[in-house]
Amino acid sequence: MEAPVRVRFAPSPTGFLHIGGLRTALYNYLFARSHTGGKFILRIEDTDQSRYVEEAEDDILRSLEWCGIVVDEGPDNPGEVGPYRQSERKELYNKYGKELIESGHAYYAFDTTEELDQMRERLQKSGNPSPKYDAITRQSMKNSLTLPQDEVTKRLEAGEEYVIRLKVPRRETIRFEDLIRGHVSFESKGLDDQVLIKSDGMPTYHLANVVDDYLMKITHVIRGEEWLSSTPKHILLYSAFGWEPPQMAHLPLIMSPTGGKLSKRKAEEEGIPVNTKDYIKHHYEPEALVNFLAYLGWSPGDDSEIHSLNELTRLFTLDRVSKGGAVFNHKKLMWYNEQYLREQSNKVLANRLREIAGKEKITLPDDDYLEKAIELLKERVSKVDELLSMGSFFFDDPKEYDPNALKKWKEDSPVLVKEYRSKIDKLSDEEFEAVKLKSLLEEVINANGVGFGKLMMPLRIAVTGQGFGPDLFASMELLGKETVLRRIDNTLHELG
Ligand code: GLU
Repeated sequence: MEAPVRVRFAPSPTGFLHIGGLRTALYNYLFARSHTGGKFILRIEDTDQSRYVEEAEDDILRSLEWCGIVVDEGPDNPGEVGPYRQSERKELYNKYGKELIESGHAYYAFDTTEELDQMRERLQKSGNPSPKYDAITRQSMKNSLTLPQDEVTKRLEAGEEYVIRLKVPRRETIRFEDLIRGHVSFESKGLDDQVLIKSDGMPTYHLANVVDDYLMKITHVIRGEEWLSSTPKHILLYSAFGWEPPQMAHLPLIMSPTGGKLSKRKAEEEGIPVNTKDYIKHHYEPEALVNFLAYLGWSPGDDSEIHSLNELTRLFTLDRVSKGGAVFNHKKLMWYNEQYLREQSNKVLANRLREIAGKEKITLPDDDYLEKAIELLKERVSKVDELLSMGSFFFDDPKEYDPNALKKWKEDSPVLVKEYRSKIDKLSDEEFEAVKLKSLLEEVINANGVGFGKLMMPLRIAVTGQGFGPDLFASMELLGKETVLRRIDNTLHELG
């Protein structure tokens, strides 16, 4: 029987969780859930203390939770293979580093920074553009392969600084099957003798990653393409330890709509939030982001587009992940957001809006009115907070006019608006409803022989301060006669 699927998301807490990392987490989660008994593990790779960011781990947890991604084992809910923070496993890596030395797959190196610099300089001068500490160079450096055994012992006993390096074979083709990319091979001569344990005693990413994937019984490593070039080193490590490597799957890069990798700078230029926390802060729908990210490099192979996290776990397979880069189309994300927004009841949206408004110290009208306003706005907004900005005129008289809309306030506008005003003034409160308001507008434009927009635009400006928005007549009905007349009067007074 095959071992149960165990996958891990292994972020380094060096900053806020970005969308690329979130997609990796999501794919791992979907893969785990698509297998009976599959487990999704969170491992914090915090061995690089110089890049450690205090709030990063919390941010990761909060982001996953917001998306509905449930961690089966992690720092907060450990299983049997903990601890789940690498900084708490330090001793372990040293033990495995030493084991590799004993088996002849690694060695101590005592070279100082100056000596390493000199080596690089020397090699560069002799025409080697990318000098490495490798099978050739190691022979002229200060390490346990070149120094006499008793000197090595002496240096170690004297507490001299050292690193442990992997003894990369000189000429070997390293091959592995990637579940997404198929057959991959690398030549060992392109690799340097990777440092496994640094002089501060901390392991590097490569050693810690391999040791932990093994000890945590990880069956599939699913990670971004940027890690593909590290995989040959990992394969060498697995074989040095005599361990069976997990299956590998490298996810396609996330590309900018204007081409190239979606870097932080490019994302900013495109108005694409980079960190998950910004999606939370700007009130995106988590279900929309999840659905969108699932399709960023994968598709179920039919035309369907809308799938909940739960449905995705049933549909997801690695063989439908694409090799080529996946373009981040922000418009598509907004489309997803709209779909998930419109699914929600007006009541739910009203409550969410109250929460947002509360933070901004905006008071909203009673539920009945608010829900009716939401009903009118819902089809026109992409995000929940836009209900507040686009719908502001439902909650307060407009404070200013949208300058673009104002261009539509023409010389004949006051006369037409005035004429319309005198007609609607005669309506009782009960008669003040959309159908009636519309037919009166038609009367005015017909009598004056002008087009619909000639009166519609100025009227919208007067009532809402904006150039576009929800159905104007239904909006006027909801606002009520008194408010509409007051706003028309104010505008006639201000704009003449
Ligand atoms: N700590 C690495 C990262 O920050 C993990 C890469 C991997 O999944 O092996 O993404």
